[in-house]
Amino acid sequence: MDLHDSPEEGRFRDEIRSWLRENLPEGWGTPAYRGPGEPGGEPETGEERVAFGRAWQRRLYDGGWAGLSWPREFGGRGAGVIESMIYGQEYARARGPNLIQLSVGTALVGPTLIHHGTDAQKARFLEPILKGDEVWCQGFSEPGAGSDLANLRTRGDVEGDEIVVTGQKIWTSFAQHSQWCILIVRTDPDSQRHKGLTFVLVDMKSPGITIRPLVEMTGEAWFNEVFFDGVRVPVENVVGEIGRGWDVVMTTLNVERGSASAHEGLAVQLGRLVELARRTPRGDGVAADDPVIRQKLAQYASELMILRMTGYRNASRLARHGQPGPEGSILKIFWSELDQRIHDTALEILGAAGLVPSGDPAAVEDGFWQHELLWSRAATIYAGTSEIQRNIVAQRALGMPRG
Ligand SMILES: Cc1cc2nc3c(=O)[nH]c(=O)nc-3n(C[C@H](O)[C@H](O)[C@H](O)COP(=O)(O)OP(=O)(O)OC[C@H]3O[C@@H](n4cnc5c(N)ncnc54)[C@H](O)[C@@H]3O)c2cc1C
Repeated sequence: MDLHDSPEEGRFRDEIRSWLRENLPEGWGTPAYRGPGEPGGEPETGEERVAFGRAWQRRLYDGGWAGLSWPREFGGRGAGVIESMIYGQEYARARGPNLIQLSVGTALVGPTLIHHGTDAQKARFLEPILKGDEVWCQGFSEPGAGSDLANLRTRGDVEGDEIVVTGQKIWTSFAQHSQWCILIVRTDPDSQRHKGLTFVLVDMKSPGITIRPLVEMTGEAWFNEVFFDGVRVPVENVVGEIGRGWDVVMTTLNVERGSASAHEGLAVQLGRLVELARRTPRGDGVAADDPVIRQKLAQYASELMILRMTGYRNASRLARHGQPGPEGSILKIFWSELDQRIHDTALEILGAAGLVPSGDPAAVEDGFWQHELLWSRAATIYAGTSEIQRNIVAQRALGMPRG
């Protein structure tokens, strides 16, 4: 693979770079730290985060940058793997706003419907997703069915032209802000494992839905328990066939695990860590004088380069074969664990001062690294835990037998 941009790729890079420069909301576009609620900082509440994300998504849509890899006929840009990677790089380097609050719709539901949806479903749902008008959540995990998703028990009783849903989902991110949910239910009560499941689109305003937010150790209530008590879903909201929902789930999970440019955000974070080491007092000097800290920072810079190269390898394979390989799992393990190491080191640099936010409004990064450290713990759990990814690498990359 030639690692240099072709002239066409270079033009594409320039185009996204200059569009971002001209269009990023106030305060964004610089790696400098911005506090919550400040221009360029994360919005303070979940509602504000969703409202901000929707407005920015709309701006991306109007600029022709929403649904980058979606086919043009569905409102996307029809970009290939390499262009998508270039976009991810430039977006992270410009420190564009994190759009995770909309990502179930844009990154999972859209591609899943494009692949498996009916014409009516595509016409109804794709455009509002791209414009940021409708927010989606993902109702897959249940108590007792996370890594082992096929163990799920939420029932969907087919009654005429409706499916009546009863059961519980858990860890449903942003359910409290969502208009729609992708839900996987067991429509054949006698079925086992991957058989007899059905993938449905549920209007979150339907009677019988109770949402109970769960507070994480960061103090935020990002995800939820969602209870379904006789919720009626029209059969036209089934994606794929009744009883064949697992095929659709696999499409959604493959898209979720295939990201090739997550490491670019980490490169920005490492840059901030280096700055932190340069200015945090230690003895007569600063933390960056400490050989142990210097070794760690250099190690992370080398690991980021390895990550970038593995990302290129993944992208190259996708471009050639149209299928992600086990590199996707290798990337997920490597970036999520490196993410945690970077944040552990930030707290090591801060020392005792990092144990609690100082409460001093003049301290620019007050609470930032503590929050990031706590949040980084989630990365080795969502989108497939590290243990599950290692099982995949063992079987698919190393050819070892199933455990
Ligand atoms: C921030 C965040 C957001 C999330 N958002 C959503 C969402 O929007 N929608 C949704 O449906 N889910 C969501 N999840 C849930 C996530 O998909 C599950 O947490 C994940 O699949 C793990 O399942 P579990 O929590 O039930 O743990 P379990 O599957 O019970 O695993 C417990 C431990 O056992 C290990 N383990 C399990 N099976 C094996 C095995 N076969 N071999 C080796 N080790 C194993 C796991 O690695 C883990 O360490 C989210 C999770 C997080 C952290």
